Amino acid sequence: MARSKDVTTGTQIVHAPLTFSPTPFHAPSYRHAIRITPALNTLVNRIANDHAYLRHTLAQTAQADPFTARLLAMLDHVPPVNRGVQLSIVRYDYFMHASAHDAYELRMVEMNCIAASYICLGTKMSAMHRFMATHPATRLHLQLDKLPANDAMHAIPKGLAAAHHAFVRTQLAGQSNNVVLVMIVQAGDTNSYDQDLLRNTLWEKHQLNMIRLSLSDIHAYASLQSDSTLLLDVPNYPQPLIASVVYFRAAYTPHDYPTDHHWQARTLIEKSNTVKCPSVAMQLVGTKRIQQVLDEPGRLERFLPTEDAHQVRATFARQYAFTSDETSETLVKKAIANPQDYVLKPQREGGGNNLYSQQLKNALSTMSPQQRSAFVLMDRIRPPQFTNVIIRDGVAKLDEVVSELGVFGVYVSVDGREQDNYDAGILLRSKPAATDDGGVSAGVALLDSPLLFD
Ligand code: ADP
Ligand code: MG
Repeated sequence: MARSKDVTTGTQIVHAPLTFSPTPFHAPSYRHAIRITPALNTLVNRIANDHAYLRHTLAQTAQADPFTARLLAMLDHVPPVNRGVQLSIVRYDYFMHASAHDAYELRMVEMNCIAASYICLGTKMSAMHRFMATHPATRLHLQLDKLPANDAMHAIPKGLAAAHHAFVRTQLAGQSNNVVLVMIVQAGDTNSYDQDLLRNTLWEKHQLNMIRLSLSDIHAYASLQSDSTLLLDVPNYPQPLIASVVYFRAAYTPHDYPTDHHWQARTLIEKSNTVKCPSVAMQLVGTKRIQQVLDEPGRLERFLPTEDAHQVRATFARQYAFTSDETSETLVKKAIANPQDYVLKPQREGGGNNLYSQQLKNALSTMSPQQRSAFVLMDRIRPPQFTNVIIRDGVAKLDEVVSELGVFGVYVSVDGREQDNYDAGILLRSKPAATDDGGVSAGVALLDSPLLFD
């Protein structure tokens, strides 16, 4: 379920767009994606704790992109690295890619280091497809062992609970009264059902209260104590609350910071000892520029053992930056001549921001070198197409779809020591093959689950 964006007639509920049956996904590629998740979690956390690397790598991008610049500037105010409890919940997204010898390979689209959504609806979707797989009425007659189990809805609250308990143990000497987790949300978010299922699971399975607040609420109710705890004086709660974990499902786009108050609220959270999921450093790891740089030779090896780096690199599509003038001009010429072979990505999240084909050509033809350095260029991945029935607003339609596999990863560390590091379920999103960009909330992609084939 999701709330309808059409609010003219009051609150309306619509089902999230979905596919009728699971879409085929290459089993060895699926297993590869699951296998490398702990290495990716390690990678993301090591980069997030290397502020000099983040500053250096993002310097030029920040000059061209004020949003990245503002996030980067916040690093000056955060507590020392590898101190306290850290939690990351990341979703690594992949396409299948047809290789030259007619086999499929995994290709990473991006790493989502902030506000990766559809944790619970993805789990519900897998469960629904498993139910339908063998039910005579659906006539699907699918083998259940081809539909992988998906328990993101429990695996992720488990990580949130682990971080909460580590915080209470190490920062509050075990005192857990009036300690809550906080979910930062956008006002008018249409995806509150996915979020509420997560909060409800946290309560049901762990008896932990997670409250929803916006950045405006933080500005109004939060203060920093001398011991660095984030105290919340929220209406309707008799006592002030201490935030153990602040989990962001917002704050990833400039639209989430319409005033200085919103930036002040974010900075207050960053300064505190609350567990930020993600910290601003971790959010910066998710920038397209950092992901592009990792594709350069030797970069992964700085953070990962050779074999892990090799397994991760095997999933990369080539990415390029418009940094030096010389290589930049050659790159622009190549992309303008073959715009269908590339995707142009700004430092944004949430879908609908990338440029393709003619738009990419127009943009690259008119941008100044300075403007270009806010973007990265990526080889376009061509995933295979499958036929499925797509259902949107209750209307079913046969279509060709391409599928993007998301694998969730959870990582918890205490004072720089790894405590938990695991793959935490999946999300398959499919979209009509004729569309360029994805995103369920952006109104393009549909919830799906994989039917593994060898
Ligand atoms: P965002 O942070 O906006 O989600 P993504 O990198 O995930 O940015 O891009 C959004 C969508 O664009 C993806 O879900 C995918 O459908 C499409 N896309 C991104 N990169 C590529 C690529 N290299 N080849 C083909 N499609 C891509
Ligand atoms: Mg994406």
